[in-house]
Amino acid sequence: MLEGFRDVHPRAKAIIHHGKDWKAWVTCDRDPIERWVDGRAVLLGDAAHPMLQYFAQGACMALEDAVWLAELLGDTPDAVEQALEKYRQVRLLRTARVQLQARELGTHVYHPAGVHALLRNQFMRETSLEQFCDRLAWLYGSPFP
Ligand SMILES: Cc1cc2nc3c(=O)[nH]c(=O)nc-3n(C[C@H](O)[C@H](O)[C@H](O)COP(=O)(O)OP(=O)(O)OC[C@H]3O[C@@H](n4cnc5c(N)ncnc54)[C@H](O)[C@@H]3O)c2cc1C
Repeated sequence: MLEGFRDVHPRAKAIIHHGKDWKAWVTCDRDPIERWVDGRAVLLGDAAHPMLQYFAQGACMALEDAVWLAELLGDTPDAVEQALEKYRQVRLLRTARVQLQARELGTHVYHPAGVHALLRNQFMRETSLEQFCDRLAWLYGSPFP
């Protein structure tokens, strides 16, 4: 751990000393899938759409799933299977977009090397704060109608 964070600020590095059982593990995602529902069984969160951490959205998406599920089941408590199918339809493309863009962020923003990294730097320099925020409006605008 200390070797990996050798160049960070000492105050940030001090945090590492508080951990007693650091572990390294592989992060992984999966291509989006359409099947989240089987009768009255349903997936949400990472079980439905595991994603890489680069967008910092896995738990956010799980929470959105939970809110949608609660709302839809609350609206039609006597039609559970229809509510689950509606939940799947509402959540599928938004979460798939986050899943795939998280993967892209890892490749093109966090971990490029050589010319790829230079291009990333140029792209970031040429992007204004306003453009940056506009590009994220689909994510941080309200996911709820
Ligand atoms: C390095 C890293 C950084 C991240 N950073 C962010 C971030 O900044 N923002 C963000 O929104 N998300 C982030 N995430 C993603 C986030 O942690 C996950 O998306 C989120 O925890 C998924 O929640 P979940 O409830 O779907 O699954 P989990 O949190 O994995 O919960 C599943 C639970 O089920 C339990 N379980 C498994 N099998 C069984 C069984 N057979 N019986 C009973 N229990 C079982 C597990 O022990 C676990 O407690 C990050 C993830 C990683 C790895």
